[in-house]
Amino acid sequence: MKINIIGGGPAGMYFAILMKQADGAHDITIHERNGPDDTFGWGVVFSGKTLANLRAADEASHAEITREFEAWDNVDVVKDVEKISIHGNSFSGIARIRLLKILQRRCEALGIIISFRSEVNDIESLRGDGDLLVGADGVNSTLRHAFAEKFQPSLSTRPNKYIWYGTNHLFHGLTLTFRENGAGVFAAHSYKFDKTTSTFIVECDPQTWSNAEFASMNDQETLEYVAAVFAPDLKGQSLLSNNSKWINFVLVKNGNWHFDNVVLLGDALHTAHFSIGSGTKLAMEDAIALKECFDATPKVSIALGEFARKRKPVIEDYQAAAYESMVWFENARDYMHLSPIELAYSLMKRSGRVDDEELRKRDPKFVREYFAMKSVKV
Ligand SMILES: Cc1cc2nc3c(=O)[nH]c(=O)nc-3n(C[C@H](O)[C@H](O)[C@H](O)COP(=O)(O)OP(=O)(O)OC[C@H]3O[C@@H](n4cnc5c(N)ncnc54)[C@H](O)[C@@H]3O)c2cc1C
Repeated sequence: MKINIIGGGPAGMYFAILMKQADGAHDITIHERNGPDDTFGWGVVFSGKTLANLRAADEASHAEITREFEAWDNVDVVKDVEKISIHGNSFSGIARIRLLKILQRRCEALGIIISFRSEVNDIESLRGDGDLLVGADGVNSTLRHAFAEKFQPSLSTRPNKYIWYGTNHLFHGLTLTFRENGAGVFAAHSYKFDKTTSTFIVECDPQTWSNAEFASMNDQETLEYVAAVFAPDLKGQSLLSNNSKWINFVLVKNGNWHFDNVVLLGDALHTAHFSIGSGTKLAMEDAIALKECFDATPKVSIALGEFARKRKPVIEDYQAAAYESMVWFENARDYMHLSPIELAYSLMKRSGRVDDEELRKRDPKFVREYFAMKSVKV
């Protein structure tokens, strides 16, 4: 089969790897607008379950990913001077650039062509050039845009502002920190992803953002302001910028996932708020799901139909949980009257997918302490 893939991110490269591994005769080209060393972002997070899926799909890249990652089992909630730790949550982090490098090397070893610095504009001729065209070209997908009538996308720009920083202070666990100042409420999502660096994502509502007057600040002033808000948490370390800018999360859905020989994958197809797990996990699990549909049939139209039929309910469920989590953070100021342990309990249950039973399994001590505090018998 001749396969063209637009986008050399996790979705595009991982799908190429899995297909080529299944059948070395596939002729696969990835078209990537950036160079091999250009990237953005800091760390990406995988749950224990995702790692098991990656292992079953491709042991070679799984072995490399797990050699480089940082693992933890705690979610820490920080408010005022208190830190509440909830254990029993299995996660690990790896630098996005390392992940991309591992996947690039694996592509090369398997004989997949990655055409770097090649921006795809002429989608129609690429579509006619092979048996399958995959749009793994990210949240601003050119392919989705070109065939908007077919895909029926819905894009919802959310009100909160967020910015991705890094820091050399190591957060040993997924740490959710809440700080208030005269402008309003700021939330930080942070975790270490290698021996020296943590991701540090800061989020605030539009009122807080406007009160802080970020619109009139340059990048350095913004970084210094945010670092000052979280000074007690950064322990003397500064924030690291990677051309970091305030952005709004865009919730992407598509009415149709494919037509003829064209399909969307990863962020181009759907997004899920970063507070519930990384888009990288979903992108790579999409690749696994699509490849499995090609295991069952070489017929492109049947495989794409099966992919949508099987994967759509999984993604809808995930997006529903992520939606609840996103809305929680959009309304974070409504929870600031809670004590740290109440805040932690509310956060653990925000997606509606974790009940008391599940929480008790993960961390019985935390649940006992919470209900003891609420004076409710368990
Ligand atoms: C600023 C920012 C920072 C982020 N940081 C993190 C992070 O630290 N951790 C995390 O888990 N997630 C992060 N994310 C989210 C994460 O990047 C995505 O969820 C994940 O990478 C999705 O994988 P993907 O392969 O679907 O898309 P992407 O990783 O976005 O890959 C799409 C690729 O397509 C290429 N492309 C797009 N259009 C064209 C075209 N016309 N021609 C050729 N190539 C094209 C792009 O250059 C890109 O390499 C970040 C997102 C943003 C916007």
